[in-house]
Amino acid sequence: MNSLSIKNLSKTYENGTQAIDHLSLEISNGMFGLLGPNGAGKSTLMRTIAALQEPTSGIIEFNGINILENPMFIRQNLGYLPQEFGVYPKISAYRLLDHLAILKGIFNKKERHDQILYLLQQTNLLQHKDKAVHSFSGGMRQRFGIAQALLGNPKIIIVDEPTAGLDPEERNRFNNLLSEIGESIIVILSTHIVEDVRDLCTKMAIISNGKLILEGNPNEAIDSLKEKIWSKAIHKNELKEYQKHFNIISSHLNSGKINIHVFSNQQPDSGFELTSPDLSDVYFNILSQNQLKN
Ligand code: ADP
Ligand code: MG
Repeated sequence: MNSLSIKNLSKTYENGTQAIDHLSLEISNGMFGLLGPNGAGKSTLMRTIAALQEPTSGIIEFNGINILENPMFIRQNLGYLPQEFGVYPKISAYRLLDHLAILKGIFNKKERHDQILYLLQQTNLLQHKDKAVHSFSGGMRQRFGIAQALLGNPKIIIVDEPTAGLDPEERNRFNNLLSEIGESIIVILSTHIVEDVRDLCTKMAIISNGKLILEGNPNEAIDSLKEKIWSKAIHKNELKEYQKHFNIISSHLNSGKINIHVFSNQQPDSGFELTSPDLSDVYFNILSQNQLKN
């Protein structure tokens, strides 16, 4: 069993932005979802775990080893797909993987070859192995990103907003691939897409303004809102008035009307009906509670 332990982590950038604020988390094998709005601090946290940047204070331990003191220890055991994967050279997928494998320390040529073919197969890119990665579609690039992250059999994989910008079919394909990576390593998936966490993760954390605001099992979090989420379809013009009187946690357009969700222990008003909560209710409810506090 692998363990990642984040203790009281803070990061303030040189311009004064506090991106992470006294955050603590314990993560073990399986798929862990890190959910939060843009600017919440997800990418900062991922880069810090990957030992690509240093925190201002706090400790990160991987399998009991302090990675701030031993950054090579996590780098050797980590696969990372950054939010911006950067420039793709005009060389084939196979050659780029070969190059990255050497950088990861896989010096045996046969071992490298076998592993690359296996990963291209796993990510459904084998038939494209001789094409340049820069000619790949968005979905293919992200699958390539997973292939490179899996080089060297890492014990922990970090993927930062991997499905942003993918069309629904590519996103589905990518998520299926992620779910196949298995339960024997740590996979940290950062996203602002609630459905991805619901579909894939058994553990999750929600962060906002660099702070941990909720941690746990997605289904348990959903259960905690049972019989507390009320919905009503209203006219677009009524939204402002309803916002004044009710704690609206989310609103969705639905065939020209607006469907609002309100968190309440009892029926907020006539016309409201109980609805079964989902993870987006959890997410928007905790975010709105947190905004009220600030
Ligand atoms: P997320 O990935 O959740 O969108 P980020 O970690 O990218 O959040 O950003 C968290 C906050 O830190 C934001 O306010 C962002 O503008 C700021 N930030 C991120 N990177 C830098 C940087 N290199 N220098 C200064 N501020 C940064
Ligand atoms: Mg980000």
